[in-house]
Amino acid sequence: MRGVIMHGPGDVRVEERVDPRIQEPTDAVIKIVATCVCGSDLWPYRGADTPDQQLMGHEYVGVVEQIGAEVRTLRPGDHVVGSFVVSDNTCSICAAGYQSRCVNGIFVDGGIGTQAEYARIPYADGTLVATPGRPDEDMVPSLLAASDVLGTGWFAAVTSEAGPGRPVAVVGDGAVGLMAILAARQLGAETIIAMSRHGARQELAREFGATEIVEERGDDGVERVKELTDGLGAYSVIEAVGSQESMMQAIRSTRPGGRVGYVGVSHDVELPGAELFFGLVHLHGGPAPVRRFLPDLIQLIWDRKIDPGKVFDRTMPLAQAAEAYDAMDKRMAVKVLLQP
Ligand SMILES: [Zn+2]
Repeated sequence: MRGVIMHGPGDVRVEERVDPRIQEPTDAVIKIVATCVCGSDLWPYRGADTPDQQLMGHEYVGVVEQIGAEVRTLRPGDHVVGSFVVSDNTCSICAAGYQSRCVNGIFVDGGIGTQAEYARIPYADGTLVATPGRPDEDMVPSLLAASDVLGTGWFAAVTSEAGPGRPVAVVGDGAVGLMAILAARQLGAETIIAMSRHGARQELAREFGATEIVEERGDDGVERVKELTDGLGAYSVIEAVGSQESMMQAIRSTRPGGRVGYVGVSHDVELPGAELFFGLVHLHGGPAPVRRFLPDLIQLIWDRKIDPGKVFDRTMPLAQAAEAYDAMDKRMAVKVLLQP
């Protein structure tokens, strides 16, 4: 089969890979229907990590081709969405809702790589969720979004307790930030401040539910958020970048007693203790346990109550993956869907 391999920063190639096959009785092999490039793929692409022959891709919608002898909830032919971390969904950590740190967890990126024609998914029962039937073609992008960016934005909104009467601020206007806006809206927040200085993304942010746009960054951005929230700061703040600047902007935009949900993959972030101590804010985040939310998100999409697929502004064949990475790296695309 063909699949995407990152040989080094900026060096993405579509190459022949070994066809996946069932290795454990709890495995499934799926045919990938749609996959995409993630903002987090840009960290190694830009040289912040050191990729070496890395199998890329962790977002996927597929059709089950084969199942191992112990797979109970899936049948060949089922359409499935999976999370970007493999989970058994039975251990104590999973039972508590933190499947992204399952004791048997495996990151799909690197270990499996779903920017490919097929993928072997371990712990298929615990990782994959079948859709109620064969999805209409126009629904596939939304289901694909559920696999990571929607699930991650949703986690950030839930963990920051976005809801009625609690102003929200979102730091980061990539796909996850935009999905967090959609989630906050669904959870009932009335005031949603999007921090963005990019015209097309501001428009999408408004479409997904943002009520205010703040273009300023750093301390100026914090001041603007305070002006919009009676001088207090937002109650729910979502951090969807992962840099020192964005993390501090998020913490400083939060009112005492408020909550930061941080889901941008952290890179060289160091938090000043004294400021944390006197800030009196809750911090909770990390790799989102998307599996916790998948059944509900699939149903919302299936019932056409949400349309997160609008976050994809380009579609390309898998063979053009290098172009897709380049477009996202240069911010010419918010998110590129790849068709194997
Ligand atoms: Zn588990």
